[in-house]
Amino acid sequence: MDKIKIAIQKSGRLSEKSLELLTECGIKVSNGDRKLKTTARNFPMEILFLRDDDIPQYVEQGVADIGILGENEVWEKEKDVTVVEKLGFSNCRLSLAIPREEVYTGLDYFRGKRIATSYPKILGKFFREKGIEVKIEELGGSVEIATGIGLADGIFDIVSTGSTLIMNGLKEAETILRSEAVLISHKNLTPAISLLLDQLLFRIKAYKEGQGKKYVLLNAPNAVLPDIVRLLPGMRSPSILPLADEGWSSVHSVICDDDFWEVIDELKRMGAEGILVIPIEKMIL
Ligand code: ATP
Ligand code: MG
Repeated sequence: MDKIKIAIQKSGRLSEKSLELLTECGIKVSNGDRKLKTTARNFPMEILFLRDDDIPQYVEQGVADIGILGENEVWEKEKDVTVVEKLGFSNCRLSLAIPREEVYTGLDYFRGKRIATSYPKILGKFFREKGIEVKIEELGGSVEIATGIGLADGIFDIVSTGSTLIMNGLKEAETILRSEAVLISHKNLTPAISLLLDQLLFRIKAYKEGQGKKYVLLNAPNAVLPDIVRLLPGMRSPSILPLADEGWSSVHSVICDDDFWEVIDELKRMGAEGILVIPIEKMIL
C-alpha cells in the first residue's frame, strides 16, 4: 500500500510541535533513536527527519510528498511547492533591526547600508520593490551579533519576543513579514497520495477547529433561554435539555477563548448557574 511521505524538522523549534500535530491527528510515531526515517504505526505514513532548510527542495522533487516548516523558509527557498494549510504554531515575524542608539528615520535609513541576514532572497526582493539599494551580507546563523562585530549596520532576522535583539544592543526598526508553520505539498501527487493528504487535512482541520474553543454547559431558568441562545450560537445552535427541576433547562454550547470571560459574565448576569467549561479535543463541522 502507498504511504504518504512527510518531511518534518529533525531537531529545532518546529520538531516537537510537528510531532504533536501528528499525534493529535491520531498518528502514532515513535522515533526514540532519532533515525532519519520512520514509519507511522497506524497510518500509511513515512516520516523523514530533515533540516528545515532542505524541506522545500525535498518536497519540490517529490522525495517527500508533504512537509511541515515555517513560511519564512518556504518564501526564502522559492521552490515550486503548494502551501496547503496554515498550522497556527511557531508564529514569528521577520524584522529589520538596528543598533539601539541609532535614530530610525524610516526605510530610507537603510539606503546604502549593510544588512546581515539568513534570508537574502526575501530581503533582496523587499528592498528591490521599494527601490532602495542595500548591501546584503548572507550569514548562516547568529545574525544578531553582526552589528556588534562590525560586519553590518543592521540585521534582518526572525523576532518573536524581541529579547535577543535587546541582549545584543539592537532595536526593531521595521516588521517586514509575519510567518507561521505551514503544511506544504509536492505539485503532482498521485491520486492515492492525494487521498491520504485529504485524510490528514481533515484531521488537522478538526484539531485546529477545536483549538481556542471550549464546551460550556450551564443551567438556566426557561424564561431567559432566548437571551442565552442569542449569546451562545454554538455550532448550529445550542442543545437545550429540560432539568428534572420544573422551569429550568440545561444548555450546552461552544464558545471561543477570546471572548470567554465576557460571555461567562453575561451568562451569570442573565441568571445562569452551575456553569461548566470543558476543553474540546477535536471539532468536526
Ligand atoms: P535547522 O537545523 O533545521 O535548519 P534552524 O536553526 O534553521 O533549524 P529553528 O531555529 O529551529 O531553525 O527554527 C525553525 C523555524 O521555527 C523557523 O524557520 C521559524 O519559522 C520558526 N521560529 C524560529 N524562531 C522562532 C521563534 N523565536 N519563535 C517562534 N518561531 C520561531
Ligand atoms: Mg534551518
